[in-house]
Amino acid sequence: MRPEIEALLRPDLRGGTAYGAPQLDVPVALNTNENSYAVPPVVTEAITRAVAETAAGLNRYPDREFTVLRGALAAYLSRSGTSIAVDQVWAGNGSNEVLLHLLQAFGGPGRVALGFTPAYSMHPIITTTTGTTWVDGMRGVAGAGAFDLDAASAVAQVRAHRPDVVFLCSPNNPTGTALGLDVVEAVHEAAPDALVVVDEAYAEFARPGTRSALTLLEGRPRLVVTRTMSKAFALAGARLGYLAADPDLVDALRLVRMPYHLGTQTQAVATAALNHTDLMLHTVDVIKEQRDRIVAEVAAMGLDPVASDANFVLFGGLQDSHVTWQALLDDGVLVRDVGIPHYLRVTAGTPEETSRFLGALAALVPTHRLEAS
Ligand code: PMP
Repeated sequence: MRPEIEALLRPDLRGGTAYGAPQLDVPVALNTNENSYAVPPVVTEAITRAVAETAAGLNRYPDREFTVLRGALAAYLSRSGTSIAVDQVWAGNGSNEVLLHLLQAFGGPGRVALGFTPAYSMHPIITTTTGTTWVDGMRGVAGAGAFDLDAASAVAQVRAHRPDVVFLCSPNNPTGTALGLDVVEAVHEAAPDALVVVDEAYAEFARPGTRSALTLLEGRPRLVVTRTMSKAFALAGARLGYLAADPDLVDALRLVRMPYHLGTQTQAVATAALNHTDLMLHTVDVIKEQRDRIVAEVAAMGLDPVASDANFVLFGGLQDSHVTWQALLDDGVLVRDVGIPHYLRVTAGTPEETSRFLGALAALVPTHRLEAS
């Protein structure tokens, strides 16, 4: 960066690194936890029609309250059995923007946000861009249950740091495992003045029996559950994330959002997709099968996969994760080096993509496995 620009930059941003998962043109892209399946033709037609219908009206600003879309999101969330009202729903351009709104409204200079690392790398970035102080809490890091977070540990860290905002990520990215709701309840209780954000971007992929924090919203106005259409819903390109919370909390977000932040086309695309929810979600089961297959086959290779409730698997046991990452890429398979020594993260794609990944990895294992050195 030019020194003149560096000098102009906010001091707390100097020397920072931008979020940047590589966007490479490769045969098998399994690095950003997208849904590998294209939007089905019936839905592309519905989306095309919906966007066409909005085109002439694009001279006007969009519906600032995205009323129709909020209704569709509330109906979708209510399908799981917890009734969510329209005024409990908020949306933005990806759940990243929704998280930004939360930090803009409830964080800020002099306030502290706590997360449990390793977790989603944008949580600290969104936090610090709003002038909020980030505190890196810890998950378990070694042995069986590596990366787990239990209620006692979470509560002790909350008591030690007295945060204004707590991030819980469930299922957790990059480790994959969902949290028990006992952790959410305990954190909420241990931080009586904090906003508790449960990032459930991957909720639809959770293993049977996993309960969503949506079931805890009733009577907890400081609790927020964020979701996205980027993962199970196969709509990452449309940029639509949302949250469910107390109506007054949602109302507070109107203080910080930009006017008309959700474009007319975005609203039309997301609503059209939600009108075909079953079709949009029909790939979830096959993706879960591929995820479970990765866990089983990677373990059979003598590597160390982490239990996953998401559409990806973190696996360890590599001598040098970056060397393996590059070797997979040289073979046309892009996975994610999340910066945890000896580990890589791979998205569960189609059966063919998964086979390509597993084949490429199997060929490397004899020389790349930790014990093989
Ligand atoms: N939360 C988590 C845990 C994620 O992994 C991601 C995307 N990788 C997001 C939020 C943001 O997704 P989006 O902005 O596309 O909704």
